Amino acid sequence: MRCPICGREFKNVIGLKVHARTTHFGAKCPICDREFAKPHSLVLHLKNKKDSDPKHLVLFYLLRRGNAGYFEGRERAIELLRRGLRI
Ligand SMILES: [Zn+2]
Ligand SMILES: [Zn+2]
Repeated sequence: MRCPICGREFKNVIGLKVHARTTHFGAKCPICDREFAKPHSLVLHLKNKKDSDPKHLVLFYLLRRGNAGYFEGRERAIELLRRGLRI
């Protein structure tokens, strides 16, 4: 599956998550260009918007800490990644 931000290809979602957290984790939202004081605020922003916008949902899934934890919308985020959603 591909990184929705830069298009780089990964064998699995775990590799993609590691890439996203090391490469695209910052203090600015790549979807709406909003800037934040710290990267943690970006994750909270993604969490707040994830129910109303699929791109924020996918990015929340990729940038949140940990690989195993369940949250509502996780399966949908993975499905959108499989379909090749681009941000
Ligand atoms: Zn990327
Ligand atoms: Zn945003």
